[in-house]
Amino acid sequence: MSAKSLAEKLLAGNRRALGRAITLVESTRTDAGLQKDQLLQTIMPRTGQSVRLGISGSPGVGKSTFIESVGSKLIEQGYKLAILAIDPSSPKTKGSILGDKTRMQDLAADQRCFIRPSPAGRSLGGVARRTRESILLCEAAGYNFIIVETVGVGQSEVAVAGMVDQFIYLQLPNSGDDLQGIKKGIIELADSILINKADSDHLNAAKRSKVDLELALNLLYKNNTVEKPKVQLVSAKEKTGIDTFLDEVFEKITALKDKGDFSHRRSQQAIEWFKSEVSELVLETVSAKKAFRENYLTLEKEVESMTLSPTTAAKQFIGTIGI
Ligand code: GDP
Repeated sequence: MSAKSLAEKLLAGNRRALGRAITLVESTRTDAGLQKDQLLQTIMPRTGQSVRLGISGSPGVGKSTFIESVGSKLIEQGYKLAILAIDPSSPKTKGSILGDKTRMQDLAADQRCFIRPSPAGRSLGGVARRTRESILLCEAAGYNFIIVETVGVGQSEVAVAGMVDQFIYLQLPNSGDDLQGIKKGIIELADSILINKADSDHLNAAKRSKVDLELALNLLYKNNTVEKPKVQLVSAKEKTGIDTFLDEVFEKITALKDKGDFSHRRSQQAIEWFKSEVSELVLETVSAKKAFRENYLTLEKEVESMTLSPTTAAKQFIGTIGI
């Protein structure tokens, strides 16, 4: 199918066309490049207006249950929801972390919802690019609420936090007395930390965790002008705290739009994306040339053996490629 007819079907909201378009942007075949570029260029004007949420947390914390609860509310409210799940393979087992079990069964059966797990085991740059492009494709197909799910084990959270409006971290009650249970880097990315499973036997532990976490955050953010993440209790299973959570998400979006910061943020994100594409493309193009790659590997060895500083090595490398 030509890029033009694929774009037409996609813009008309055809789900199969959306699936095909995502497969196309995921493709690493070099001959797919032109079609991909044409498709993205055609749909660009119809992108950027959705609400984008990043949701992260360790396996078992309740991400898919939470997304089911949030998703069903959103669909009730008339949103068209797309869920992109980034599933890096576990470095230990080399297997999928999100698992093979059928996740989010209710949403998966709902025609108003589009769910797409990303295949495992690609480079971070590849994952980030593919996810950004998939977000755009979903938006062009008429999805106005996008959830990007990550597992919270790697670098992909940083990339995702840079492409969404709000980044949410799910945490279990009592996992670590204070911040030890959560990686500090994740906290710095999070707009909200939700303590899930705040129900039945876990409720008291969840309340204690909230107090501990807030104390720790107060210390961490003491001399910081950046807004600290908000801690909230939820139960994805009992669907408690979900309405409050969603109300706040929309309040923040409205506040951003009122101040004109929403589109500014989208533009800034596009510029960041452009920058990372340029550096990746330069590296890809250069390392595809044998002579440069050999030189690169020689310098890498010197850096590894600590005989050359990384900065000097980088400058020497740039010198040899003549830019
Ligand atoms: P994921 O791996 O992060 O996607 O976690 P799942 O959504 O698959 O949930 C893992 C387990 O926790 C499942 O057995 C869920 O039924 C359970 N679970 C999820 N949310 C809650 C909750 O709010 N309360 C309780 N008690 N259990 C939950």
